[in-house]
Amino acid sequence: MTTFNKPVRLRPLPTLTPTNHFFWTSGADGRLRIQRCQDCGYYVHPPTGRCPRCLSIATPEPVSGEGTVFSYTINWYEWYPTLPPPYAIVLVELAEQEGLRLTSAMADADLIDITVGMRVRVTFRPLENVWLPLFEPVEVPNAG
Ligand SMILES: [Zn+2]
Repeated sequence: MTTFNKPVRLRPLPTLTPTNHFFWTSGADGRLRIQRCQDCGYYVHPPTGRCPRCLSIATPEPVSGEGTVFSYTINWYEWYPTLPPPYAIVLVELAEQEGLRLTSAMADADLIDITVGMRVRVTFRPLENVWLPLFEPVEVPNAG
C-alpha cells in the first residue's frame, strides 16, 4: 500500500487585505463565506466586492461548504521544505452555483482516492491568523 503525506503542513499563508479578510478568517465559526451580489444573487470568488454581472455590491454570505471536485492535480515537486510532496491541489466547485470554484487542498484523503466529481465538504485548519478552507470526502450512503 502506498502512503501519502497529509497535505496540511507549514505553507506560505495568504496576505490578509480588507477585501479578502472575511474569506481567510471565515472558518473561525466553522462556516465558509463567499461574496454574493446583493442585487442579482450571483456568487463572486475570488472576492472583489463587485458583481461581475451587474456591478452591484457583493458582500460575504455563508454557504453550505459542500461541493464536488471539478479537477485536481498531484504535486510531486518540493516547492517548500515544510510541505513535502506528494499532495493534491483540488479545484472544488461549490454546490451553490455552477462555475463557483475554489482552489484548495484535501485535508484528509489518500491521494489515490481523489476523483473528478467526488463529493467533498469544507473543513478548516487554523494556522496563525487564518483558517485555511480545505476539503474532505463526503461519505455517500449506499455507495458501492
Ligand atoms: Zn449582480
